[in-house]
Amino acid sequence: MEFRQIQNTDIRASRIGLGTWAIGGWKWGGADDDAAVATIHRALDSGINLIDTAPAYGQGHSEEIVGRAIQGRRERVVVATKVALEWDERGEPWRNASASRIRKEIDDSLARLQTDYVDIYQVHWPDPATPMEETAKAMQALYDSGKIRAIGVSNFSSVQMNEFAKFSRLHTVQPPYNLFERAAERDILPYAMAHSLTALTYGALCRGLLSGAMREDSTFKGDDLRRADPKFQPPRFAQYLRAVSRLDEFARARYGKRVLHLALRWLLDQPGVGAALWGARRPDQVGPVSEAFDFALDANAKAEIDRIISEEVKDPIGPEFMTPPGELMPH
Ligand code: NAP
Repeated sequence: MEFRQIQNTDIRASRIGLGTWAIGGWKWGGADDDAAVATIHRALDSGINLIDTAPAYGQGHSEEIVGRAIQGRRERVVVATKVALEWDERGEPWRNASASRIRKEIDDSLARLQTDYVDIYQVHWPDPATPMEETAKAMQALYDSGKIRAIGVSNFSSVQMNEFAKFSRLHTVQPPYNLFERAAERDILPYAMAHSLTALTYGALCRGLLSGAMREDSTFKGDDLRRADPKFQPPRFAQYLRAVSRLDEFARARYGKRVLHLALRWLLDQPGVGAALWGARRPDQVGPVSEAFDFALDANAKAEIDRIISEEVKDPIGPEFMTPPGELMPH
């Protein structure tokens, strides 16, 4: 495992973090709690110490599972959770980054996580209905009280981060980023590097596409968000799968690796990436983690990867489908 210091803190985090959205069940077609706890234990045993969760992942369920799994090992784990998405009785989330909401949510999260501090506390989405000053000062107050050890934001633009940082410390930023979804390179990662923020990037496997395990007849059940993701529908799905297949051939021929290892190595070598968040919900899915660390990609390899993707994916689409305009907006 590789480790990185979260800049301007004394937190040392593994460069692969376990993402636990799917473990909450919501938007991933349900979850199996015992498998989820075993997955977290497998990740910790594999050298991962960074676990990313959020209240919105299953309306508290993911946090409860993380709390259950880290009992007896709390001090060895870097717990990253989030704040500022409220949800209605149907479980539908909406943004609320008001100071009163933040003060309430931290205590709810601490109870679910069975701990008295959060290592990295992140504003999940910017809330246009709350002044940034109010949100940022509420986060700073939690930091000053010792309930949180680092302050982060997620899905913020560089302009929004700039505004936030006028009123609070800021240590981490969490944007989507993977081989297929690179918008963070334009603005977020350069901003993070220029301002000494550690980027914890999410969606390392592009929601499983880069695992290499998907086929054209793969199906998704229940509320699984991939049923609405245009990448997983015709005609794009076949294009992405062809790219994955060629990337897999390339990884095998050049390094004796598979596409999943290539996707992780590529991420970890990109400028500005502190840690990559990898979503898993079954212990066997964590197995490949160790194989991302014993090789390096040179400029030729990166160019070949880009060539394969541009030849196969004619009409690329980013992660923006997850939050169409109006979605998650404050009530
Ligand atoms: P991801 O890492 O791109 O993909 C996760 C999915 O890939 C898994 O649920 C699993 O799907 C599949 N997978 C994982 N390992 C595999 C393996 N070895 N073999 C085959 N399939 C495998 O997606 P993500 O969960 O969206 O992102 C990671 C984390 O980032 C999240 O859990 C969350 O913590 C964070 N995140 C944050 C935000 C935000 O707004 N801040 C948004 C999205 C995600 P199946 O189980 O269905 O096979």
